Amino acid sequence: MLDKKIALEQIAADIITNNVCPDLAKQATQLVLGDGNPDADIVFIGEAPGKKEDEQGIPFVGAAGKFLNEMLATIGLERQDIYITNIVKYRPPDNRDPLPEEKHAFLPYLQAQLEVIRPKILVTLGRHSTNCFLPDVQISTVHGHPKRIKLALHDDKSKSLPIVILPLYHPAAALYNGGMRQTLLNDFANIPLILKKFN
Ligand code: URA
Repeated sequence: MLDKKIALEQIAADIITNNVCPDLAKQATQLVLGDGNPDADIVFIGEAPGKKEDEQGIPFVGAAGKFLNEMLATIGLERQDIYITNIVKYRPPDNRDPLPEEKHAFLPYLQAQLEVIRPKILVTLGRHSTNCFLPDVQISTVHGHPKRIKLALHDDKSKSLPIVILPLYHPAAALYNGGMRQTLLNDFANIPLILKKFN
């Protein structure tokens, strides 16, 4: 656990040293790497930090995060039971969508995080995160359906990590959309079963 924490801190340090997305870095308050348990079996991946996340340096602490915490509680999980991060680690100006080149620039660092944590399940929140791992799918079609993939590793391209991707709607999109909200709640309710099945 301590080793993993140190390894994750090193990834944050590498992002800064390597000057990843300098334009984003310049206008952000700080880097938002991730939060939660580095020994977790389940990792949630969002899009990019928003205003609150940028202020606090922690992912999913705004309205979408509150909703996510409520959904976690419905399946008996707390934030300390999971690890949570985003594809892009700096807040895009005015909360615009992350650009393809920004997602691309941060991907090796996301892979490095996953290599350290080695979760069993990756829950991708929304289309940006889902399409990082399953490039050609529509979130409206694949949400709630777990898929086994071999995750390319950051350090050694000849090795890969077997992992299950579970695409879900993004909580920020579902928050104020009744139909999507119910779909997300239904998909969330299946997580314990999926965890058991793929354990
Ligand atoms: N939305 C995201 O995708 N990530 C956050 O950290 C907060 C809101």
